[in-house]
Amino acid sequence: MEATANHTQIVTGWAGKDSSGKVTPHVFKRRENGPEDVTIKVQFCGMCHTDLHYLKNDWGITMYPIVPGHEITGIITKVGLNVTNFKVGDRVGVGCIYASCLNCEFCEASEENYCDQVQFTYNGIFWDGSITYGGYSEMLVANNRYVVRIPESLPLDAAAPLLCAGITVYSPMKHHNMFQAGKKLGVVGLGGLGHVAVKFGKAFGLHVTVISTSPNKEKEAKERLNVDGFIVSTDPKQMQAASRSLDYIIDTVSAKHSLGPILELLKVNGKMVLVGAPDKPVDLPSFPLIFGKRTVSGSMTGGIKETQEMLDVCAKHNIKSDIEIVTPEYINDALARLARNDVRYRFVIDIASKSKL
Ligand code: NAP
Ligand code: ZN
Repeated sequence: MEATANHTQIVTGWAGKDSSGKVTPHVFKRRENGPEDVTIKVQFCGMCHTDLHYLKNDWGITMYPIVPGHEITGIITKVGLNVTNFKVGDRVGVGCIYASCLNCEFCEASEENYCDQVQFTYNGIFWDGSITYGGYSEMLVANNRYVVRIPESLPLDAAAPLLCAGITVYSPMKHHNMFQAGKKLGVVGLGGLGHVAVKFGKAFGLHVTVISTSPNKEKEAKERLNVDGFIVSTDPKQMQAASRSLDYIIDTVSAKHSLGPILELLKVNGKMVLVGAPDKPVDLPSFPLIFGKRTVSGSMTGGIKETQEMLDVCAKHNIKSDIEIVTPEYINDALARLARNDVRYRFVIDIASKSKL
């Protein structure tokens, strides 16, 4: 019997079939709900820039057809026999991680994201050998180990981007002990990840400066997001004036750029975390590093336990993503706008709206 013989459930979704960066309606199959699984009726799915990288095959690893989406919220419609922590009707989320080995030191430490066999929610290979398909679809089957609970006070639409954008910035901020009131945080790139990093910074009492290529984002960054400083990175005078002023920097930029000028903004001993994933290597000149004894590190999403913790922190501090809700019919327009940096600050697909049309 084929390993995927139990993939009998027919699902409608939206898939990229070539590197055009566009999706079309796509019907595919998911497995039956197993004993450890939950079935989720997808309500909302955030559109991460990673979706665009994969759709365009920026990283050269895309398996077409690809159903993107790893910022998924929805309602449980079925639970497997061995599932005790969820019940039908629960409001839940699924992020980037769909499977991992469950045996290694990282899985045991709830850092499944660093398991060397980690498989993602889309463009991954599940334990049964099937390719994973993400949340640009009406229904998802997921092992309950990788499912989190959405706190009651968070709406399912504005919570969806927290499943990737939220945890991706929360995890390194916590790891590097950045949640200290009064410290100075720089956020490079005011997009999906960047605006949530700003919100965590403000919630924990940091002084937050945005470093952006978009002067037209300054007014709203100050008025709506309450940022304390805004530097236009293409203006050498503004960059110079802020030299050695920041304790931490989170770089969320999706395209190739140089870290040199940004590193100059850090104090001596300052730390930069890269979470953006450009397809080409970023420039990392050694002088700003060695002259400031500065550190550059990276971080990839977060573990499931920490994702739940992050959501609970968001509920406590009322942190939600700023979103523009779109219908599935609008996905291609939204992808085109995401590519030209025209989003404030996350598109979220109202998956269920299709049935309302
Ligand atoms: P996004 O919403 O498109 O935001 C990226 C921001 O980068 C833009 O808003 C823009 O901000 C800035 N930017 C874009 N092009 C630029 C350029 N050529 N030079 C300088 N700045 C530029 O994207 P996102 O969803 O936040 O994702 C950002 C990156 O993180 C992507 O590469 C994505 O794949 C990656 N990512 C990584 C992880 C992880 O686990 N590490 C998780 C999720 C996403 P300004 O207009 O303010 O300049
Ligand atoms: Zn993402």
